[in-house]
Amino acid sequence: MVKKIDHIGIAVNSIDEQLPYYQYVLGLEIEKIEEVPEQGVKVCFLKVGEVHIELLEPLNDQSPVQKFLDSKGQGVHHIAYEAEDLEQVIDRMNRNLVDLINKAPKKGADGKKICFAHPRSTFGVLTEICQKAEADNE
Ligand code: ZN
Repeated sequence: MVKKIDHIGIAVNSIDEQLPYYQYVLGLEIEKIEEVPEQGVKVCFLKVGEVHIELLEPLNDQSPVQKFLDSKGQGVHHIAYEAEDLEQVIDRMNRNLVDLINKAPKKGADGKKICFAHPRSTFGVLTEICQKAEADNE
């Protein structure tokens, strides 16, 4: 089972270009900016209460986020739910024929274990399930 929304991913052409809006218009606080080469993205996390906004900027033309920007333009990219036990959610998804983009958990920003479900089997919403890194006991 998932327990809460962890973050909302937003595809952007440039984090630098959009930061003033999030920081000064909405008044959000930057938590971290990090490159995740495994995902082909640079990410910026902003804090909104318990939830986070994840700005995703492509690192190169092969980045899945670049492909998203090319076809859909900037905007909401995915919803991420946090799970206590990612493997258990993956198992449930498999049993319910949800189409997973990665069959096994992979490493995401913040050392989290993540898995993506394809929007064609989740009613149009690219869905990420994540589990906090073991050592992260905040
Ligand atoms: Zn995400």
